[in-house]
Amino acid sequence: MANYYTDHPEFEFHLNHPLMKRIVELKERNFADKDEYADAPVDYQDALENYKKVLEITGDIAANVLEPNSEEVDQEGPHLVDGRMHYASKTYENLDVTRKAGLWGLSMPRRYGGLNMPVTPYSMASEIVAAADAGFQNIWSLQDCIETLYEFGSEEQRQKYIPRVCAGETMSMDLTEPDAGSDLQRVMLKATYSEEEGCWLLNGVKRFITNGDSDIHLVLARSEAGTHDGRGLSMFIYDKRQGGVTVRHIENKLGIHGSPTCELVYKNAKAELCGNTRLGLIKYVMALMNGARLGIAAQSVGVSQAAYNEALAYAKERKQFDKAIINFPAVYDMLSRMKAKLDAGRSILYQTARYVDLYKTLEDISKERKLTPEERQEMKKYTRL
Ligand SMILES: Cc1cc2nc3c(=O)[nH]c(=O)nc-3n(C[C@H](O)[C@H](O)[C@H](O)COP(=O)(O)OP(=O)(O)OC[C@H]3O[C@@H](n4cnc5c(N)ncnc54)[C@H](O)[C@@H]3O)c2cc1C
Repeated sequence: MANYYTDHPEFEFHLNHPLMKRIVELKERNFADKDEYADAPVDYQDALENYKKVLEITGDIAANVLEPNSEEVDQEGPHLVDGRMHYASKTYENLDVTRKAGLWGLSMPRRYGGLNMPVTPYSMASEIVAAADAGFQNIWSLQDCIETLYEFGSEEQRQKYIPRVCAGETMSMDLTEPDAGSDLQRVMLKATYSEEEGCWLLNGVKRFITNGDSDIHLVLARSEAGTHDGRGLSMFIYDKRQGGVTVRHIENKLGIHGSPTCELVYKNAKAELCGNTRLGLIKYVMALMNGARLGIAAQSVGVSQAAYNEALAYAKERKQFDKAIINFPAVYDMLSRMKAKLDAGRSILYQTARYVDLYKTLEDISKERKLTPEERQEMKKYTRL
């Protein structure tokens, strides 16, 4: 049976990179969880085996559920019904299968219900999902927004939201507006603190929001009345259970139809401030975008792998002049170049992921204890890289 993980030894090659040992040691805080959680690894090899198991499950689901569903999902696409987005029918099946397999909140600490997986194997899972259905990868990999909530949210917010994402609730990042695309400093969605309600209220419009009818949104909004630049923007958590946001429109795109791109209307939507005011764009959205960049890179490598698989299979099967066309140098040359670019893209992706793992984990540890001078140097080095 096909498996998008075990079919490609490249994953294991990258997983066995020498830097992984250091990443695992840091991420597992020298395996401190082993006495408290049955699934926590006892050493480096055990941790690697755990990642491989998760990736094998992901590879199986990708090849045998997501990929067979992908054509129907792409043809049906999401629907807009009374201000709510409904996914294509088989997207619900994809969500259900990935939830039952525990493929949500992978990178979150175990105390919130996650698997404490580093970014590198998480990105591999992301690549595998994308190779099966790039649209579904958009929905699934937005779970990554939880990293930003973990990094900048309060402990109360962590305890409230992270277990929900680990259980399979979906996320979105609501940044773009009709007049604020590349130039996010122009965001105008208004956040006002209501003494009466004891919370922030959001009013305005967001556009082009992937998975815009998600359960938990991170929203960039203007909290400082009278300001016009990035310094007046803050980040908020909007919980769909609170109500106040409707979907006005779903974009009709050229591809990734299964991934809903939504226009949202916020009308007195209750929200919580995440972190401090004024740091929304300058600090928090930058962190959010860095996560999204790795997600998009993983999606691109996954799509490249899928395209290469199709091309290779066709070139082996298609015959002309009594020969499979793969035997013609011009065709073979094209395939070799595709594979070389695919391998290069994948190498850059996982090298970057390893650097991100190192600096982000050290940053996280620095909130628990003082880093040693060597660790501080290490963090600086990988942040720069
Ligand atoms: C499929 C899809 C999914 C998306 N998902 C999300 C999401 O989940 N959340 C979210 O918040 N947003 C999302 N977006 C929005 C996306 O982030 C914006 O489309 C993007 O920021 C560009 O903004 P814009 O479309 O308004 O283009 P504009 O900013 O108007 O740009 C138009 C053109 O001008 C160029 N340009 C702009 N500024 C410069 C400059 N300084 N120098 C040179 N060229 C420049 C651009 O490259 C582009 O070619 C999504 C968009 C798409 C298409």
